[in-house]
Amino acid sequence: MNTDLNTQEIINLDAAYVLGTYPRAPIVFESGQGMWLFDSKGRRYLDFTSGIAVNALGHAAPEIVQAVETQIHKLMHVSNLYYTRPQAELARDLCQKSFAERVFFCNSGAEAVEAAIKFARKSGRQAGGEQKTRLVAFSGGFHGRTMGALALTAREKYQAPFRPLMPNVDIVPFNDLQAAKQVIGPQTCGVIVEPIQGEGGLQVADEKFLAGLRELCDRHNARLIFDEIQCGLGRTGKLWAYEHSGVIPDMMTLAKALGGGLPMGAVLLNGHCAEVIAPGDHGSTFAAGPVAASSAQVVLDRVSSAAMLAHVNQVAGYLAERLAALQSPHIQEIRGRGLMIGIRLDRDVQPLLEAGYQQGILLLNAGPDVLRLLPALILTKEHVDLLVEFLTGAQL
Ligand SMILES: *Cc1c(COP(=O)(O)O)cnc(C)c1O
Repeated sequence: MNTDLNTQEIINLDAAYVLGTYPRAPIVFESGQGMWLFDSKGRRYLDFTSGIAVNALGHAAPEIVQAVETQIHKLMHVSNLYYTRPQAELARDLCQKSFAERVFFCNSGAEAVEAAIKFARKSGRQAGGEQKTRLVAFSGGFHGRTMGALALTAREKYQAPFRPLMPNVDIVPFNDLQAAKQVIGPQTCGVIVEPIQGEGGLQVADEKFLAGLRELCDRHNARLIFDEIQCGLGRTGKLWAYEHSGVIPDMMTLAKALGGGLPMGAVLLNGHCAEVIAPGDHGSTFAAGPVAASSAQVVLDRVSSAAMLAHVNQVAGYLAERLAALQSPHIQEIRGRGLMIGIRLDRDVQPLLEAGYQQGILLLNAGPDVLRLLPALILTKEHVDLLVEFLTGAQL
């Protein structure tokens, strides 16, 4: 293997051979440690993206490295035709720490959403017959880019080139309960919503809105699905974002942080949804293999601990305080919850992201004008101070 390509050669190689579905920053990363990433030129970057909410415990978290290393020496893969200990234990832990009674495992967020669509469809059909197939999703939501998930992600730019989409989907304005009331009815089998919209700009769902959706779903025997792929697993200061509202879904999709950096997704289901699913209804060859499941056990154990959640709340409070004190004329609104924060500006955030690449700090956007912060949960006040120093210097 050729190991001495320089940075520009790697970028050129990638540009020549990898399908261009991502606009990439011109950085080649080689290693990471905690909140920091190191590139091929030896420069370091403070990471406020955590791989888009994946590396919740930071880079190269020792407990994850240890769990993965131990497991790869024992068993990497046997398929889901057999039992393996890490998967069974992880499923138990996810259920014991949530509303759920069963878990379906898969390998990504979009796959979790696809599975939830199928479960809602089957459950709906059993509850209300052949016509009960309609799904409801909300403006500004993001549920993934596969065909089913794409139909629930109402963004013209994502959908237009790929029509026809999965039919029988209704898109309703987010946080608009009156509009939801007009649409959710006897033919609705499922309603999917992010308690906090990630890609859509960090809009937080009102408690009354979620409670209203719960009521509508109960009235019409439809399944309420919370997509906590980005906002779940400790990021908001509670293990699950739904805990802030007290509204309990029938299903919940997870992915991103779950696998500790390895691909993993899941749908958590209550007993009612689970009981209609039979062998053969759905499946996945790789899902919750022993390595990914061992890694996820560490993640779940850590992010659900009282110490970690207290830490998240404390450091998120400090972050909110320092951001509120910025007093920049460009800041229109600061929103989100915990370590999932959006700063809406009166201008394009791209130049700020690029200044970050130059100065060694990685930030995300959510749409053209929202700066998005998704740091690892191990963030400390010192890291927040460095961020604020950068934002001040960049004249935000
Ligand atoms: C990232 C994300 C998805 C899609 O997950 P992938 O693993 O990229 O397929 C779905 N829903 C939400 C809320 C997300 O943030």
